[in-house]
Amino acid sequence: MIEFKNVTKVYEDGGVKALENVSFKVEKGEFVFLVGPSGAGKSTITELIIKEELATSGEICVNGTELSTLPNKKIPYLRRNIGMVFQDFRLLPDRTVYDNIAFAMQVTGASNRSIRRNVPSVLSLVGLSHKAKMTPDQLSGGEQQRVSLARAMVNRPPIIIADEPTGNLDPENAQEIMNLLDDINKRGTTMIVATHAKNFVDSMKKRVLAIEDGKLVRDEERGVYGYEA
Ligand code: ADP
Repeated sequence: MIEFKNVTKVYEDGGVKALENVSFKVEKGEFVFLVGPSGAGKSTITELIIKEELATSGEICVNGTELSTLPNKKIPYLRRNIGMVFQDFRLLPDRTVYDNIAFAMQVTGASNRSIRRNVPSVLSLVGLSHKAKMTPDQLSGGEQQRVSLARAMVNRPPIIIADEPTGNLDPENAQEIMNLLDDINKRGTTMIVATHAKNFVDSMKKRVLAIEDGKLVRDEERGVYGYEA
């Protein structure tokens, strides 16, 4: 589903070697935590997967396609297959909850009929049917993150990548988001979660990929966070 083969990434800007010779494979349906100190290279990995950045050397395969052979005009199709969740939610502030999610379907050319069917269904899954008409500023942080999760899954992508999804949330809301990520994964979505949330990594017993200084230093089934929180 996602495979890195000896991937090195050097940013032109500053010549920083953000990743060095990184290799791993994530199979369909896996749940993987990506851990490591700030600046280790976690975001670089997600940016490479969605081809927002290009690898300097090595190969990256996503859904069977080697990304260096993927023409630029097909990048939107790649990204449609990968739902993204960010620490800062990134919702459209002047649109309702419903419209934020509907918009993610409209840009793919989905029919109004399927939008009317799918948006309420994902809203119900994240427990926010009753807030469909509100705007993001009327929601708590935890609720905003649930909307962004609904948006990430509404096109039924095979992969979801969450970058510090609980970074702005209190423990209770963070727990709820982790539970939802776990549920969505159990329904078959491959899940990659970059996080500093030691407590969840330690308690959820998922596969852990640890990055330090651009190198993959650990790859453990049912792993732990392994750093001081
Ligand atoms: P993490 O997500 O683990 O905090 P990043 O992948 O953001 O780490 O960063 C890894 C390294 O690459 C850091 O040294 C960072 O400063 C550098 N870096 C990240 N993005 C860029 C960029 N666009 N241009 C130059 N250097 C970058």
